[in-house]
Amino acid sequence: MGDNEMAVNCLVCGERISNANEQHLTVNLADGSTFYAHKRCVQAIRMLITNKASLPNELGESCPDLVHSLFLEHWFSESRTLNDVSSEIKRMGYNYSSATISNVLRSFTRKGILTRRGKPRSYTYVQKRPPA
Ligand SMILES: [Zn+2]
Repeated sequence: MGDNEMAVNCLVCGERISNANEQHLTVNLADGSTFYAHKRCVQAIRMLITNKASLPNELGESCPDLVHSLFLEHWFSESRTLNDVSSEIKRMGYNYSSATISNVLRSFTRKGILTRRGKPRSYTYVQKRPPA
């Protein structure tokens, strides 16, 4: 066994994650424990749960992660209002407040991921450029 081999097993399939180059995700739980999982295993599970072909690349389900996953799915290729984003996130089963979502949209605009148009209270958000 080489020094570079990771001695961790996939949280999902239980098989060894054989080397640092194999695509895997780190799963940090609230209690401080850390697990690893093959990216393909996580994607398979997410596909089962969400029934979506296009999947977020992170495990997290924080509000920024959700908005980022929508961006990655090209959902922001059309202009979206705060209301649109809010209902889409609700449809995905999460219940973040409009204030939280609004903050996330503002931060994504600051980071240059989204562009904001329109006037206060009727802003729309659209991707600045397509996801890489
Ligand atoms: Zn696995």
